[in-house]
Amino acid sequence: MNDVYDCIIVGGGPVGLWLSCELRLAGLRVVVIERRTHRINQSRALTIHGRTLEVLSLRGIEERFLAVGKPVRSGHYAVLDTRLDFDIFDSRFPYTLFIPQETTEALIEEFAFELGVEILRGAVAERIVCESDGVTVSGASEWPFELHARYVVGADGARSLVRSQTGIEFEGHSGNGAWFLGDVVLASPPDTPLVSAFNEHGCVLVAPLGDGAHYRIVVNEAEERGRTRQDAVTLEELRQATARILGSDFGAHSPLWLSRFDNETRLAKAYRRENIFLAGDAAHIHLPAGGQGMNVGIQDAMNLGWKLAAVAMGTAPAELLDTYESERLPVGVNLRDTTMAQSHLITAFSARGRALRGVFNDMLKVPAINAYFANQVSGFAVHYPDPLPGFAPPHSALVGSRIRDMPLRLSDGTDATLFSLLSKGQWLDLTISDGDKVERPDWLSSNSIVEATGVPTAHAATLGDIGALLIRPDGYVAQTALSTSMRGQS
Ligand SMILES: Cc1cc2nc3c(=O)[nH]c(=O)nc-3n(C[C@H](O)[C@H](O)[C@H](O)COP(=O)(O)OP(=O)(O)OC[C@H]3O[C@@H](n4cnc5c(N)ncnc54)[C@H](O)[C@@H]3O)c2cc1C
Repeated sequence: MNDVYDCIIVGGGPVGLWLSCELRLAGLRVVVIERRTHRINQSRALTIHGRTLEVLSLRGIEERFLAVGKPVRSGHYAVLDTRLDFDIFDSRFPYTLFIPQETTEALIEEFAFELGVEILRGAVAERIVCESDGVTVSGASEWPFELHARYVVGADGARSLVRSQTGIEFEGHSGNGAWFLGDVVLASPPDTPLVSAFNEHGCVLVAPLGDGAHYRIVVNEAEERGRTRQDAVTLEELRQATARILGSDFGAHSPLWLSRFDNETRLAKAYRRENIFLAGDAAHIHLPAGGQGMNVGIQDAMNLGWKLAAVAMGTAPAELLDTYESERLPVGVNLRDTTMAQSHLITAFSARGRALRGVFNDMLKVPAINAYFANQVSGFAVHYPDPLPGFAPPHSALVGSRIRDMPLRLSDGTDATLFSLLSKGQWLDLTISDGDKVERPDWLSSNSIVEATGVPTAHAATLGDIGALLIRPDGYVAQTALSTSMRGQS
């Protein structure tokens, strides 16, 4: 079989689209199969967290999002009164950006088209067949097709066909608790943009949508009212529940979107089977507490993209692809557990439950605990401790951590930012003190690396006594070398 594509991505949501950009940037022949004829017009994911903004910035497109989103410098944990402080992040993005998912998808799709990604809309994948030299994906309904590629990625959401046909279990818990939301206009908006309330009647969150006109109201009522997930939400139901819990419905009217959801939580048992991979909601679903699902999914795609591209191009050993699961499955486990914990706390309406919330609320007043949860929700806490294939054991604690952006004065006298040197999706071998060099594995060819010598003109403390460092295409430090002058002193 002749491969037509290097990779077929099933699902053109934010995760599939971001992965397509990463693969195309590396020069792969990639196609996205998307069932919907048009992009979604629902706000769904409202927050892009700081680490995801760094991911967008690593490819030079963050300004497109910043221009239309609204930065919010704190977040909630289980709707507790003490908010998570995002100001503490050592990043250009010490906030979360409020921006509707439809806009996020439109902007990623725009980038995908600029890179030359092919997107087949209205095509429904129905069969995934593994063969000795690749995978065939076909669909007979609506827009019949049969495509072949060496690799397939299922970014096809919670009910993933790729996952089920590949036989990967989706272990977890079915949903309970009736959550509903409305994106509405408020005749009398609250004085503060973010409002939350939790009491014996239930829990409400009110937040601006970021478009200057609409607010999102999210509700979970303590009293069971006999509605199922399938029952349509009405504006009246939203207004009445909000008034019961908050004392006012802010004159909500003109709903853009009304929807019901629950806390069903599941995690794929494996992220890979042979040449088929899962990413995003196809691999993990949970209560959207803290606004994490899309963010974690985009970072799945960022982790998989450069690895898949390098192995497909023959510039990296096949074992590199195993590290997708070994690095990202633990992130999924953490996401599953922390959102289940939040789900439990958010529905702790009893007197004992409220007492437990009081204890948690007080704990969040301790700066170190607040920082721990803020880093976790925003994605900054992710760390990949194990060396990649062929790499020597880490030489410093920086290895495995994400590197922040910083301005550099290069040896030729020009200025650049560290992220701009990574914008083509290559590795960065950065020498800070002349003569220092990082040990690289044999397989890492110089064609895949940007080599630069330069000194940070700000944020140098991040690097400590490091004289050179090798940074992966996804912005995590792969290896470091102690500066020669420091070595001399030790
Ligand atoms: C109310 C709500 C609020 C949320 N808020 C946030 C938030 O603030 N922050 C956050 O990070 N996350 C949030 N999320 C979660 C976020 O919406 C999801 O995690 C995100 O959409 C996952 O992206 P994805 O690309 O993996 O999957 P999806 O967005 O589900 O995309 C999958 C795509 O695959 C397509 N598809 C499926 N099957 C096939 C097939 N057989 N053939 C072809 N195409 C197919 C679908 O049409 C779809 O376009 C929220 C979710 C909800 C419901």
